[in-house]
Amino acid sequence: MSLPTTYEQIPVTTLASGRELFIPLHRLEGRAPGPTLGLSAVVHGDEPLTNEVVRRVLSSIDPADLRGTILAVPVVNSLAFESLSRHTPIDMLDLNRNFPGSPSGWLSEQIAHVLTTRFVAQLDVHLDLHTGGIFPTVDYVYIFDRSRELSLAFGSTFLFEPSQPYQGTFAVPAGAKGIPFFTAEVGGGSFLDAHYLEHGVRGVMNVLKQLKMIDGEPIRPAQQTIVTEMAVVRPRFGGVLYPEIGLDQLGKEVAGGTLLGRVVSPYTFETLEEIRAPFARGYMILLRGAMMRVNPGDYGYMVANAETARPA
Ligand SMILES: [Zn+2]
Repeated sequence: MSLPTTYEQIPVTTLASGRELFIPLHRLEGRAPGPTLGLSAVVHGDEPLTNEVVRRVLSSIDPADLRGTILAVPVVNSLAFESLSRHTPIDMLDLNRNFPGSPSGWLSEQIAHVLTTRFVAQLDVHLDLHTGGIFPTVDYVYIFDRSRELSLAFGSTFLFEPSQPYQGTFAVPAGAKGIPFFTAEVGGGSFLDAHYLEHGVRGVMNVLKQLKMIDGEPIRPAQQTIVTEMAVVRPRFGGVLYPEIGLDQLGKEVAGGTLLGRVVSPYTFETLEEIRAPFARGYMILLRGAMMRVNPGDYGYMVANAETARPA
């Protein structure tokens, strides 16, 4: 599949296997001047849908219609991708908690350092793409002061404005540089890939339109909601999760105490735990759409507090 991009591999290090570890980088240069937008995918190795979003975006843009440049890293953490794992298998670290990184740190920190100095350093705007992982399905974007208009333009129904952002994410080098950055969480779980691929591609194209890098107006839903309180509901016990609500409930309101799923022992078949919705009124932001194995402490569900939400 040929893309209208130039491609390079930024070296990171040599692995014990003798193989070279590199960061893959596509550059799509527009004919007219404009900003440089960074797109990154698969910083978590178990979120492969984001890779296809990047491929579709790059293959659908004619450089003649583009103002500025898109710099895209289609797989940020190739070692984690190889294992379909959130973490880097060699050092067991979450790359997305180790920015800005260090040239003399753990391997994940070394990768982060190369991304900070060789990728983010070139950008005017940065959008990092995520999903819910292999099993959960998710749909929201982060909204920060510097990213406000771009986050809204992405076109998700729910925007999350955290009071305390996670430390060490890809937001760190962008923050140090003072450029707009946000994360889009789209799909995962594979059940509705076609829907979420379309949503992800539309979201990136919306951002390009908002930045005036391509013609057109962003396509946004009639109503968008900013949530500030998000509960990550983690199973206390591992076993088989039997969902009690379906994927059609994603984005819908849920009453406090609603049974979301049951964790059952695959050994004795007894119910170990009933997982219930927090908050008197909540919005379902992440859920699990099928019977599956869960570990204690997994991202079981995410529910936003509807009482403290506001229209965007
Ligand atoms: Zn992720």
